Amino acid sequence: MAPRAEIPAVREALLGWYREHRRDLPWRRSRDPYGVWVSEVMLQQTRVDTVVPYHRRFLERFPTVEALARAPEAEVLAVWSGLGYYRRARLLHQGARAVVERHAARVPDTFALLRALPGVGDYTAGAIGSIAYGLPVPVVDGNVERVLTRLHTLRGDPRASPGKSLLRALAARYAEHPAPGEVNQALMELGALVCAPSAPKCLLCPVKAHCGALAAGEPERYPEKRARAAPRPERWSALVATLDDKVWLVPSDLGRWTAMLLPPMVERDHTARQVVSSLGMSGIVRAVREAGAVTHVLTHASMRVKVFVGELLREPSRGELVARGALGGRAVPKVTLKVLEAALGVL
Ligand code: SF4
Repeated sequence: MAPRAEIPAVREALLGWYREHRRDLPWRRSRDPYGVWVSEVMLQQTRVDTVVPYHRRFLERFPTVEALARAPEAEVLAVWSGLGYYRRARLLHQGARAVVERHAARVPDTFALLRALPGVGDYTAGAIGSIAYGLPVPVVDGNVERVLTRLHTLRGDPRASPGKSLLRALAARYAEHPAPGEVNQALMELGALVCAPSAPKCLLCPVKAHCGALAAGEPERYPEKRARAAPRPERWSALVATLDDKVWLVPSDLGRWTAMLLPPMVERDHTARQVVSSLGMSGIVRAVREAGAVTHVLTHASMRVKVFVGELLREPSRGELVARGALGGRAVPKVTLKVLEAALGVL
């Protein structure tokens, strides 16, 4: 459907509201492209409140793109630990290395060169380009998608053709402005603070006079997304084996947590005897008992993990024994912490 709202008028109302109401977030205090890059990667699939302390710690530990490029991957994952979606951290790290190799450690200032970096898609390239360098390029995240499909009553799934290209073209028209970074952030901020997925605060909305969905009395009808498949249920059994105050962890060979530390786990709903045998731990561990279960939901899988705990008889030949108090500095995914808490109590 052709856009109905008057873009310049909407944009001015939106910018006026944004300048007054925007949240004071650390990455908004500077236009450093590296800081913007880190924040945009962290904000994908993660709430702002969660990201703030991680962003601060990450920049303290890796203050420049060069410092990040130089760091070993395990150290990057350790600082990212708990934020989830670890593939993002790996790609950010690879992207930093590419910036050092290809661009003499200066984050490039064109959309095409940004887009060519590992892990940098249209969204991240648009965000760095518009916010740090003032390039008139669009940024389409879930918030922008919601705001624009409602304002302009865009029909059809905005994540599939032709809705996707229509939405991007519309966002690009908004970005045709002397302050494209501010316009893009204002659209995202409106989606985050006012135009919520359910029960949007239309009465408080600075662009309500232009909103097609509100005029039609059905803001929540948009965006017309196809339902996503429910996460696949998975049954796992994990064995937490301890020696003194240390816990045995092994590097994961699962794609979702490659090389991060997990307790030995198997995708089966096992008894104590079965878990010891299928993990090849007979003669290494004793007094194995069940200690509850935890649930861990990922985008595509919902894991139910039965937790067993036992005592190691000797040091195992693979993996490593990690002191409970030292877990904070290691690359461990959230599922490891949940399983250890179920087995050992507060860590
Ligand atoms: Fe969203 Fe309501 Fe504003 Fe329309 S009027 S943009 S639906 S908050």
